[in-house]
Amino acid sequence: MNTDSNKQERLRALPAVDRLVGLLDMHDAAAAIARSVKVRAARDTIDAYRKRILQAPEGFAANDLSDAAILQAAVARAEYLNRPKLRRTINATGIIIHTNLGRSLLARSAIENIAEIAAHYSNLEYNLEKGKRGSRYTAVEDILCEISGAQAAMVVNNNAAGVLLCLDTMARGREVIVSRGELIEIGGSFRIPDVMAKSGAILKEIGTTNRTHLRDYENAISADTALLLKVHTSNYRILGFTASVGLNELVELAARRNLPVMEDLGSGTFIDFSRYGLVHEPTVQESIAAGADIVTFSGDKLLGGPQAGIILGRPERIDAIRKNPLTRALRIDKMTLAALEATLRLYRNPEQAVEAIPTLNGITRSKEALRPRAELLLRAIEAIGNPRIHSAIVDAASQAGGGSLPLLEMPSLAVSLDISGLGPNDIEIALRNQPIPIIGRIESGRFVMDVRTLCDAEIGVIAASIELIASASVEKSP
Ligand SMILES: *Cc1c(COP(=O)(O)O)cnc(C)c1O
Repeated sequence: MNTDSNKQERLRALPAVDRLVGLLDMHDAAAAIARSVKVRAARDTIDAYRKRILQAPEGFAANDLSDAAILQAAVARAEYLNRPKLRRTINATGIIIHTNLGRSLLARSAIENIAEIAAHYSNLEYNLEKGKRGSRYTAVEDILCEISGAQAAMVVNNNAAGVLLCLDTMARGREVIVSRGELIEIGGSFRIPDVMAKSGAILKEIGTTNRTHLRDYENAISADTALLLKVHTSNYRILGFTASVGLNELVELAARRNLPVMEDLGSGTFIDFSRYGLVHEPTVQESIAAGADIVTFSGDKLLGGPQAGIILGRPERIDAIRKNPLTRALRIDKMTLAALEATLRLYRNPEQAVEAIPTLNGITRSKEALRPRAELLLRAIEAIGNPRIHSAIVDAASQAGGGSLPLLEMPSLAVSLDISGLGPNDIEIALRNQPIPIIGRIESGRFVMDVRTLCDAEIGVIAASIELIASASVEKSP
């Protein structure tokens, strides 16, 4: 038989979509799956078979095109399509604020508060004392001022929105002076010059990449100047022959020229990390005390709360920001507010915050404090009892991530994993494709799991997954 008629015959043997959906309807494994998903699965499966037949019609064994075989493929596809797309993962990368893996984990009290507020009506925009409409921002305004020392506060969807909103309010159509050393790009295409352009403010860059002096700001100020902006160089550092102007000096200059100063702190922390033997990261309290008119930062970076943009500053500035029509488009939702308020409440007692907020706990934990967890994971892997699996506790270096504390490498512990017959890439892919995906890293040609970003409850899941991939790979080898 020539290839063409071979192809035609095989294509004709494929079931129609309706018939395959009918077969899925009768199959137990697909019983709980919605019809719309079964239709997609049937189409995808038939399409995939058609492509394979057109590409390599001879590459089929006798019963590869039987109803049973095609149905099995369709069931697998339906199960795949039916899985939630946003799923929990296990972060074994050692990167604590991993933007791709969801940044900060919430404290228990924040999670509970989300459930409480989501399940019930709330006073989101209702003033209980007056019995009439209230402000959405009341929930966190007082506590933000209490912790930071600011006089007024406001929150939006994220820090990018916060920066955009502040620039739009304070500098639309006018000039904003920024040092060239601070024209940052962070992940997800947030670039200061682009955000500036979107806000309608005009960027006036000054100084050089490595050195900017107070006189550069002074010389750039004109009648068109609306704002002096300082941006925290979150995710990189300029080292060597450098100079930049501190917030204090900038505030003093701005006061003389009757201009406001805004600082985008990026991560923003209420905790002085130098107290835990780590590098000093400028705190929110310091920026407020230095006299910045507006300070913005993220809720889900070093703060360890939900995605949010926090704006602190002088009452008249915050008032103008609130009245900006853009605020409505960037507003924070009630579940975020619930999580944010609960997180902020923990900061009333900094020791409690460091204990209860996973991001802070992850950053401040010493390498030796991680050893019990590393040993637990090692023992769980050894208990599988498969002679093809070899693991050991190795030294590692964790990172804060999220563009925070970029040069900080935290000494950490990891557990390496070798499975004879599988390369590190095979292990990485297999663990990433588990029902609860496990994301580790490959270091010096070996798969490793940093235990800093794990919790003890995940150890059993990891061991079960390793057992599964090791035994699945045995079956395949000759
Ligand atoms: C992360 C960051 C932002 C953006 O914050 P999001 O909360 O991710 O929107 C803005 N500016 C700086 C300096 C940052 O580090």
